[in-house]
Amino acid sequence: MYDVVVLGGGAGGVPAAIRSSQLGGRVAIVEAGELGGLCMNRGCIPLGHMMKVAQLVKDFDLGKLTGLDVANIRIDYPALVRRRDDLIGFMRQGLRATLQKKGIEIIRGRGRITGDGAVEVEGRRILYRKLILATGAKWRKSEFAGSDLDEVVNTEQLLTAQAMPKRVLVFGESPWLVEIAQFLARSGSLVTLATPQKHLLPEESKTIRTRLATVIRGDGVEIMTMAAIENAARGKEGFAVKLSAGGVHRELVVDNVVTLERVANLRGMGLGNLGLDEESPYLRVDQKTQTEARDVYAVGDVTAPPQEQFSHRAGRMGVVAAENAMGIDSSLDDGARVRVLFTHPQVASIGITPKEAHARGYDVIVGAAPLAMNSLGMIIGEEEGIIEIVAERSYGEILGVHMIGSCASEMIGQALLAITMEATLNELASLPFPHPTLSESLAEAARDALGRSLYLPL
Ligand SMILES: Cc1cc2nc3c(=O)[nH]c(=O)nc-3n(C[C@H](O)[C@H](O)[C@H](O)COP(=O)(O)OP(=O)(O)OC[C@H]3O[C@@H](n4cnc5c(N)ncnc54)[C@H](O)[C@@H]3O)c2cc1C
Repeated sequence: MYDVVVLGGGAGGVPAAIRSSQLGGRVAIVEAGELGGLCMNRGCIPLGHMMKVAQLVKDFDLGKLTGLDVANIRIDYPALVRRRDDLIGFMRQGLRATLQKKGIEIIRGRGRITGDGAVEVEGRRILYRKLILATGAKWRKSEFAGSDLDEVVNTEQLLTAQAMPKRVLVFGESPWLVEIAQFLARSGSLVTLATPQKHLLPEESKTIRTRLATVIRGDGVEIMTMAAIENAARGKEGFAVKLSAGGVHRELVVDNVVTLERVANLRGMGLGNLGLDEESPYLRVDQKTQTEARDVYAVGDVTAPPQEQFSHRAGRMGVVAAENAMGIDSSLDDGARVRVLFTHPQVASIGITPKEAHARGYDVIVGAAPLAMNSLGMIIGEEEGIIEIVAERSYGEILGVHMIGSCASEMIGQALLAITMEATLNELASLPFPHPTLSESLAEAARDALGRSLYLPL
């Protein structure tokens, strides 16, 4: 009998298993595919590696501007794939060793819940006191005529291909598709990025998403919004895709259509035996990650709608689930949700946008600091970069921070700290951030919201 059995060894399941074991539990983790899950094997890490390359390609432009003479920059794709796969292999090995060192039993195979306190894996019955579901999300095919043809690939198939398509339509709502589009464009592909939504990244503040769209267009990507694919079929010149965008009909001839649709993975693993609804879009949990079934917790993408599928969310949930499973009272604080996008420049945000703050009835003040007016920003050519702060007027409570720029994914951690520690605008405005760094603009944006920016020519 295990104290805790974790079903799924990805970004949510691994920390859940480790924390349970740290708290003295006898723990098993069941994994049907690769340890590390989507993030390590087919998501954040491989794509993060490719986005680093996309950034380097652009850095050489800055290099040329600053006097660096580098001729013939080109991407050696097979070498990129080799390094990426080595990296993932190394991480997987490290993860396996860590789990083993902590005395966690790794059980290979697909788990099925039998409903009587056991999970069955390839004929073996594994008894548990507490169960943590961390089965992630799974791929779903887009719904348009022709979407079942081989030319229509998801990002996992794209990332495991040995070469990149020369002409490509990137289609869907997921933010990660913007990264893919930028990588492909910077690798020399002809890219159209089409989304059914009204804007690219509609969840982001208008200031940020319009600047990102400018950068992406500057990379040569054609952006189509309010788009729908009518059908796709093989033709003489390639894969012909008929689509409409805002009432205009177009035909594109491409090598591939890349899509990314993932829905919570909850069918076919016996959830019904626990009285849980397999047909719901995702598993609902409370602040303790407890499901409606007794002694059963759920974490990560299996509990999330597509726009909330993030590794850092899964990881935090894993720890909270483990602590509750092991008898410690632990809760999620979902108030400060962080989003990141590893485009170049990066996009990152926390909390609510100015529009959402107005809609919620706050007396809103907004401050902004363009990185083009920050000393380091000028050195490294941060033309589109900006930090925007949304706050409530009377107490200076920070409601949201939104940014585009190099290192935004790092700087948003500072905003996370500020919001979590309940820092006010005034406190943020008076911090002596080191110089010259982009973080100085966090204080400057706070000062701007207070009407006392130091460096804006107003
Ligand atoms: C292209 C792409 C890029 C991304 N980039 C980022 C990023 O930069 N930053 C970020 O925060 N997020 C990113 N994400 C999202 C992130 O990968 C997911 O949010 C995260 O992996 C979710 O973790 P999880 O543990 O819930 O699920 P997963 O990582 O999917 O793990 C679930 C595991 O459960 C296993 N499993 C499923 N069913 C069973 C079963 N019945 N028995 C045994 N095992 C089972 C699966 O094999 C899998 O390994 C990206 C996603 C994609 C698609």
